[in-house]
Amino acid sequence: MNGGDMLNKTDQKLLRMAYDEALAGDAQGGCPIGSVLARGDVVIASGRNQRVQMGDPIAHGEMDALRKAGRQKTYRDTTLYTSLSPCMMCSGTIIQFGIPRVVIGENQNFGGNEEFLRDHGVEVVIANDQDCIALMQRFVREKPELWFEDISQDYPTQGSPSN
Ligand SMILES: [Zn+2]
Repeated sequence: MNGGDMLNKTDQKLLRMAYDEALAGDAQGGCPIGSVLARGDVVIASGRNQRVQMGDPIAHGEMDALRKAGRQKTYRDTTLYTSLSPCMMCSGTIIQFGIPRVVIGENQNFGGNEEFLRDHGVEVVIANDQDCIALMQRFVREKPELWFEDISQDYPTQGSPSN
């Protein structure tokens, strides 16, 4: 893991945990996106995108971690780690729940909601982590249909994939 100049030791460790969740999801044939909800250096829950595994289109990595965390009296002292920049659904949830800080593995393969989060007072840290970038790049290349499904975009259908 590199590119984490802005990350403290706890951030580095917990972002790596989110990445490991993403890897586990990849091994299950799912979308390789992982997330961790933590209070300081204490992990509340970790999760991964479960679209394929659970047949649940709402279970993005962030949503899976939040669901596993169960009821929390407050999120004001938490940080959400995610291997990939949050979509609008997850960004809305972050704001709705009052999560004040988000550490993002990368926003090169997907992004665009960082300013929305910042505009709502969320501290956004982008790690530009090379492992996170490489994992998503491979996924988008190997399973474009699944990727387009996950981000609710039409898959370009000129010709058909040869495999
Ligand atoms: Zn999402």
